[in-house]
Parts: sequence; structure tokens; C-alpha cells
Amino acid sequence: MSQSSPLFAPLPRRQTRLVHVGRVGVGSAAPVVVQSMTNTDTADVLGTAMQVAELARAGSEVVRITVNNEDAARAVPHIRDRLLALNIDVPLVGDFHYNGHTLLSRHPACAEALAKLRINPGNVGAGAKRDPQFASIVEIACKYDKPVRIGVNWGSLDQSVLARIMDENASRAEPRDAGAVMREALVVSALESAAKAEELGLAGDRIILSAKVSSVQDLIAVYRDMALRCDYPLHLGLTEAGMGSKGIVASTAALAVLLQEGIGDTIRISLTPEPGGSRTQEVVVAQEILQTMGLRAFTPMVTACPGCGRTTSTFFQELASGIQGYVREQMPQWREQYDGVENMTLAVMGCVVNGPGESKHANIGISLPGTGETPAAPVFVDGVKTVTLRGDNIAAEFKAIVDDYVATRYVRKAG
Ligand code: SF4
Repeated sequence: MSQSSPLFAPLPRRQTRLVHVGRVGVGSAAPVVVQSMTNTDTADVLGTAMQVAELARAGSEVVRITVNNEDAARAVPHIRDRLLALNIDVPLVGDFHYNGHTLLSRHPACAEALAKLRINPGNVGAGAKRDPQFASIVEIACKYDKPVRIGVNWGSLDQSVLARIMDENASRAEPRDAGAVMREALVVSALESAAKAEELGLAGDRIILSAKVSSVQDLIAVYRDMALRCDYPLHLGLTEAGMGSKGIVASTAALAVLLQEGIGDTIRISLTPEPGGSRTQEVVVAQEILQTMGLRAFTPMVTACPGCGRTTSTFFQELASGIQGYVREQMPQWREQYDGVENMTLAVMGCVVNGPGESKHANIGISLPGTGETPAAPVFVDGVKTVTLRGDNIAAEFKAIVDDYVATRYVRKAG
């Protein structure tokens, strides 16, 4: 759906195998999938089911839950059943560390209820226990026909791999720096674990890889390298991105570069929520990265000018924010009813300088009066001025115009 010039379009997606995660395809020609992760105690069936439902309704296409103990493993099938009772069929991914082999062996219903297992080769087990415990999880994945994400993380990198890569580096005529060694160890850990899983019988099209770090430049380097060295789908994410604007900006900076190069088949934004903030913010950010890059469309986007000394009041900001919130609220219903409504564009502009021009580029645009301008707000629909709004009811009247546009311009779905 990209509207950009071919000169500036993203590179074609890297060719990968297609992995089915429940009903969602990851890799190959499938759209880049938005994932998220809960932060509830998985043993709390109701609380976790409610948060998964909230994430799924916000647009998360796959949701990961931690499975860290016996109670959590026991809860997983009940969480899945509660979601199905709510008509929410989002694939659940179980995140396993240290005791995954035990939990999956003791709780086959947990393995069966999950759509994918995520394991971290650095946390599967230490020393002599590592290989048999890794093998045990892969055998269970094969038995229940579940795909596996082999997710390496620099905070828990397999120390035996790191030690070996360091030794190899020390024997080089020109040793590489510590950062390059760490990046190589991350990629090698992911690739060798995938090869081991295939040797153990897991099909190549049941494997997704990730190798997460928290530095933007390291993440880009690691994924560029991994993309060249395998054809497994790649899960992108900047680990421990942080809070607020820092987390959003860092994640966007890293993922945008990779996505533009055709690298990345599924993404997660690892934001730390503000106290009391909604977990769904990570879903919104993931969608907005993909949509603003022209890779996918989820929700009508509102273009708004930043405002300046020419804007007369906060009304302009309130209208821009109100309209963005309104279309996001309406989307679950519009998505059911109309084809293509997610591609609609809106503009809310603060004065006559850029207002009419920007408004004409959108499907629907409004140019509010700036300081000293006539108190009138021309509305443009598909580039043509259709009406001028005045008075105290501009917000409600503009929403009505948006509703009317959706009902008349987008094809109503059958049924
Ligand atoms: S459109 Fe007008 S109000 Fe908005 S930033 Fe430009 S000059 Fe300022």
C-alpha cells in the first residue's frame, strides 16, 4: 500500500520460509506481524486473559505470556479457553526460561494450548544440562507440532558460545573489538541453536529467530548479519527499549532501518509502561511504525501541523487528538463493516498557511482559523472544499463528516 515513489520504497522483503503460528503466518510474503507481551502474573487466569484480550483488540496478532512456574503452566489452557469464550482466537506464545523442559513435560495441556514456544538458548540450562534440556523442549515442540522462536538476548547470552567466539577471536591475526565479538556470538548462538533443533527433528519451517540487544546500532548490525546467514523468519525488537519517548524513538530508529531493508517478519516494541499506563501502547507503536512506513495499514492516520504562534487556542490540538482517538475507537466496528477504511487519511491543520494545501492531500481535511483569520474552518473532501464549519460545534460536525465519508466511500462487507 506504499504511496511513496519507487525510488524511496522499502527494499523487497527478504525471502524466508513461512512459519504458521496458529492461524497467523510469519515470514515469506505474509504481512509483518505485530506481537506484544503481557505483564500480568500468568497464574492469574482472569487477569491474564483480560490483558491478552485488550492487546488483541488493540491489534496484537500474536500475544506472548511468560510460563515461569507450575501455576502458570496450569493456567495456560484456561487462559486460552477464556479467550475463546470471548471469541478471541489470538495465538498465544509461551515464554520459557530455565525450567521450560520440566513445565512442558509435566503439563501437556499447556504445550497443546500454546501456538508457539519461545526459548532462549542462554537460559535453557547450564553446563551439561543445557543440551538435554534444549532437546527435551524441541521434542515436545515436535510432538505437539508447535513452532519455536529461538530468541537470543544479549543480557542472557549463552556463555559457552561467547567464550568460544572470544577464543577464536583471540587467535585471529587481527582480533575484532569486543562489540563485534558480542554481536557474532549472538548470531552464532541463534544459528547453531536452530541447526541443533533441526537435527533433533524440528522442521525448518517451524523455526523463527531473534537476537535482541538494547543498542540501536548493535541491533541493526546483528539483524543485517543474521538476515544474510539464514532464511528463517526474523522477529525484530529492541530489547529493554525503555519508557516513553525514549523507548518509542529507539525502537523506531532501529526497526525502521531494518524494515526499510526488507528485514523483519514480526515485530514487538518492548516499552516499559508508565505507572498505570496501558500495555496496549506497545501495540499502537508497532502498528504506527508499520503504517507510517507504508508497510501495512491498521487505522486511519491523522496528519496535524505542530501548531505555532498563528494558532489561536488549544482547540486545534484538542480537535487533532479527539479525531485520532475517535477513529481508533471506531476502527474495531468499521473494520468489521467496511473494506479499506484503514487506509483513510485525515488532516487537522491550524491555519491558512499550510491548512488548505495539506487538507487537500488527505481524504478529509479541516483547516482551522489562525490568529486574525476569519473564524471559519473549511473542510476538504478528496481535495475539494465541501463545507465551511463555524461556531461551537465544529468537532461534532467534523466527526459526522468523517462518519458519512466512511459509510459512503468504503465498500460494505458482506454478511
Ligand atoms: S499550518 Fe499554520 S498553525 Fe500550523 S504550524 Fe503551519 S503556520 Fe502554524
